[in-house]
Order: sequence, then structure tokens, then C-alpha cells
Amino acid sequence: MGNVLVVVEQLNGKTGEITFEMLGKGRELASALGGELHALVIGGQADELGIADKVWVMGDGALAHYTSANHKAALVAAISAISPRVTLIGNTSIGMDLAAGASAATGIPLIAYCNALRVEGGQVVGTSQIYGGKVLAEVAPEDGACIVSVLAGAFPASAGRSDKTPVLETLAPPALDNRVRFVRLIEPEAADVDITKAAVVVSVGRGIQSADNIELADGLADALGGVVGASRPVTDAGWLPKSRQVGKSGLRVKPKLYLALGISGAPEHLEGMKDSGLIIAINQDASAPIFDVAHYGVVGDLFEIVPALTEKIKG
Ligand SMILES: Cc1cc2nc3c(=O)[nH]c(=O)nc-3n(C[C@H](O)[C@H](O)[C@H](O)COP(=O)(O)OP(=O)(O)OC[C@H]3O[C@@H](n4cnc5c(N)ncnc54)[C@H](O)[C@@H]3O)c2cc1C
Repeated sequence: MGNVLVVVEQLNGKTGEITFEMLGKGRELASALGGELHALVIGGQADELGIADKVWVMGDGALAHYTSANHKAALVAAISAISPRVTLIGNTSIGMDLAAGASAATGIPLIAYCNALRVEGGQVVGTSQIYGGKVLAEVAPEDGACIVSVLAGAFPASAGRSDKTPVLETLAPPALDNRVRFVRLIEPEAADVDITKAAVVVSVGRGIQSADNIELADGLADALGGVVGASRPVTDAGWLPKSRQVGKSGLRVKPKLYLALGISGAPEHLEGMKDSGLIIAINQDASAPIFDVAHYGVVGDLFEIVPALTEKIKG
């Protein structure tokens, strides 16, 4: 059977965007494989999953919080009961752990860091974004099943939403292993703005030199109706909160316009923004790798260019 199983990721009872991205892509893969789209909820709730043909619900409050051993055992049991051709898991901090563990336990090959997926000649073909985004590897597991960990932002979430009511089925949970127990969730500091939702992101890098100079980027972002993002050195220095960080250990953004001011373009940064609609970079080093992904670039001093650009836009 060519069924596709999406492992639902929920935090505090809320289904993450990555789940809808996978459901939309999963629907397309299931049609191409001649199978059904199934969703698996481990210890959570099955609302909002109407696009799936069937939702499998396993466990109750005891599995509500993620622990590696219990959720891996739950997923392995579900895969054995459902036998999906493709299992999609978000490449999140939870999903990276879960996907690798389930792959090792079942022997089913894993396509990790996947940012593109298609069916070609009946075979699943995935693109793995490896070495921090420097290398894209196209891989096709042999005819059998595969597990795929999907990068957030790779597919549109809108394709995974539906008001329909799916068929619900219950799966028996595995015996629990309580050697590692969930104690409490430490919430990140509340973000003042959500950079993942902005149409325009003006990001600053180490080239901005100090916290005081960030007002230059604020001015440009205001003029463009956007928000200010940052590379990691800027948030590490405390010049902007962590919630503004773009990249591998920050957030992945896909705005219509991304302006990179004084950012070199390290792979870890590119991973978070290279799919933006239009990328414009300002950097005084003509050989900075940011220019490899930028659609437009200005080689020059941001302290001269940004104020002039802001004035021009305001005018
Ligand atoms: C596991 C791991 C995870 C990471 N996660 C992230 C992440 O999520 N996000 C992230 O950004 N990084 C991340 N990094 C760090 C990453 O490797 C880079 O060190 C970082 O992105 C560099 O930031 P930058 O471009 O601001 O600084 P730099 O590399 O120092 O570049 C500064 C740039 O500013 C330019 N510049 C200086 N002055 C001016 C001026 N006056 N006008 C114009 N240009 C000027 C310079 O030419 C230079 O290109 C991670 C690293 C690791 C190992």
C-alpha cells in the first residue's frame, strides 16, 4: 500500500505549523502513490486534522509530553500496525530525535533534513539539505518504506488544512518506560514580534557593530513595513532577543523580501532565509557568501547605504 503517515507534533495542546505542512505534502504523495493519508497523534488531540483520511490516536495523558523512549516506542508500534509506505516527521528538536530513533529501531531508511519530496516512477525521491545547507543530496530509498524528517518551511501549511471530519481509530499505547520522565516545560521568553510571519525582514549581522546602531535597521524596516531580524552573533551579544534570530539554531523565515545588512552568509544563517522571495544583501566584502544567494547585492558600507535607502523609500 502507498499510505502516507504524518506524525502530528503538538505542544501545549496546539498543533504545530510543521504538521500542516506535512499533511499538505502527504496528501499529494498519497495520491501519487495510490494510497491514503493517515495522521498519528501520540498522547494528544485529533482536532484540525480533517485533511487526513484516517487519524490514529494512541495513548492519553501519560504520553502527552515528549520523552524519547516512550514516543519512540509508540511510533515504532504504530508503524508496525499501520505499515505506511512513507512516514513524515517534522525536523524539529523533537522530530530529529524521534525520526532517527524510529529509523534505527525499525531498520526503515531515513531521509533527514528533507526540503523537497516527490514520487517519480512509483518511487519516493527526497532532497536532503546537508552540511548546513551547503549540499543538497537527492535520495531515493529502495522500493520499501521510508521515514522522512521534513524541514520547517519546506511546504505550504495552507495545503494541509481542511474542515472535514476524519475517521478516528485508536491504537493501544506501548508499555511505558519511566526511567526518563517529563518534569516541566521551560517556555522561551515571549517574542515581541513573530519574524516568521512578516512579509519583509530586515536582518542585521555583526557588521552592525553595536546595539545602538540597530536603530538604523529599525528605520529601514519601518519604512518598508517590515520587522528586524538578526544573525546569531547579534542575538548572542544580546543586541536583539533570541526570538529575532534567523538560521539553523534560530527561526526559518520565508518573507517576500529579506534584506541582509552586514551578514556574511554562513551556511547556518542561509539555512533560515535562503527560500525568501527576494534577497538583497549589503556587505562591504564583495566575496561574502551572502552574495551567492542574493538576487541583488550592494558592495559597500551599510552605514552609508542604509540611511540613504531609508530616506529614498520614505520619500
Ligand atoms: C551549530 C551552529 C548553529 C548556528 N546557528 C546560527 C543561526 O541560527 N543563525 C546565524 O546567523 N548563525 C548561526 N551560526 C553561526 C554562523 O556560523 C556564523 O558565525 C554567523 O551566521 C555569522 O554571523 P554574521 O554574518 O553576522 O557575522 P560575520 O560572519 O562576522 O559577518 C559580518 C559581515 O559584516 C560585513 N560588514 C562588516 N562591516 C560592514 C559594514 N560597515 N557595511 C557592510 N558590511 C559590513 C563583513 O564584511 C562580514 O561579511 C551557527 C553556528 C553553529 C556552529
